[in-house]
Amino acid sequence: MSNLKIKVFPDPYLRLKAERVKEVGAAEQKELDDMASAMYLNCGVGLAATQVGILKQLIVIDIGEGLLKLVNPVLTKDSGTEMGEEGCLSVPGECVGIIRSKKVAVDFLDESGLHSRIKADGLLARALQHEIDHLQGKLIIDYLNPVRKLLVRARSNRKKKKAAYGAV
Ligand code: ZN
Repeated sequence: MSNLKIKVFPDPYLRLKAERVKEVGAAEQKELDDMASAMYLNCGVGLAATQVGILKQLIVIDIGEGLLKLVNPVLTKDSGTEMGEEGCLSVPGECVGIIRSKKVAVDFLDESGLHSRIKADGLLARALQHEIDHLQGKLIIDYLNPVRKLLVRARSNRKKKKAAYGAV
């Protein structure tokens, strides 16, 4: 059972860059399992390690077609563009329209440390790009214009205050 807590904007951890994993071992396998549990528990379709305070290039994705675990994912090919709405477990309550590549190929290591490649389009392509962004410290709100970004920040600060008072 996972006890990972998902970090929420504006937590500075979400802005840090994850490091490449040199060797996939038992620690990473457990982290991937814990991340998957946290993702399912929170009804997400994807989760990046930086969202739970692990600064390693690990992501899990399940868009309803089975669990994918990716180590050191690198976008190697993309083509076309497509607009779509995205939410994020780390930016609750916000929905942002983002233009992403329509088709992608991603190179990665699987949980056994073997080189692998996935080709994707549609929701899976979008989820891959969203999670790879997280590993670079990038969030969906970075695609907003500056005014809307300020509004999101103001809203999340208010929520934080409320939560703090509620905890007293
Ligand atoms: Zn996200």
